[in-house]
Amino acid sequence: MIRVTVWNEFVQEQMEGKEAILKVHPGGIHETLKGILAEDDQMQIRTATLEMPECGLSEQVLNDTDVLVWWGHVAHDRVPDEIAERVRQHVLRGMGLVALHSAHLSKPLTRVLGTSCTLKWREGDRSRVWTVDPTHPIAQGIPAYIDLPEEEMYGEFFDIPTPEDQVFISWFAGGEVFRSGCTWKRGYGKVFYFQPGHETNESYHNPHIRRVIQNAVRWAMPTIRMDVLDCPHIERALEADWK
Ligand code: ZN
Repeated sequence: MIRVTVWNEFVQEQMEGKEAILKVHPGGIHETLKGILAEDDQMQIRTATLEMPECGLSEQVLNDTDVLVWWGHVAHDRVPDEIAERVRQHVLRGMGLVALHSAHLSKPLTRVLGTSCTLKWREGDRSRVWTVDPTHPIAQGIPAYIDLPEEEMYGEFFDIPTPEDQVFISWFAGGEVFRSGCTWKRGYGKVFYFQPGHETNESYHNPHIRRVIQNAVRWAMPTIRMDVLDCPHIERALEADWK
């Protein structure tokens, strides 16, 4: 089984204007994401939100998490530094991190990547998500492109480290392009950022977008999970002197 924790700040769903979000995500964005992953019977999914003690991300929860999926937007700064650092440490030790849409500015992602992750944006556009690495595990079963009739424009320059795999690039009707599906490795952990998922848009109901998120979680599974990261002193491997 793949143990997944879906984290959503779950703030806009309870604020003024929430109706537009709840129409698309009746149980909150975390419940929509949980539903996407539950289509795969190999996934064991729990959800966590900002309002829970320790944001629902205790050491115990993270120890029991293979892949953490993150959605946040208006409350990045309400995630305590201590929790963000805890997530970072777990990623470095092997936990996968899948950051979605406005999680580009989340504390866990910016700390793991080490750049500002700033970009340009505009609500209410049309998007075409191009698959630019069709052999990548995250692109399996995904067509040459995915059309999203309504999605928020995210544009370059996107201040990220050069992706290790560029899996998707999105085009927007305003003429912009954006590196919308990117992977990195950090320590023993695998990280994927994926742009679609503006809170009032239907992108998470698109079957191809759902498949990308499922593939991403599978891809981000830990290969090795370290208990600690340290610098052990070691004895020489070779007995003979180099002379
Ligand atoms: Zn958005």
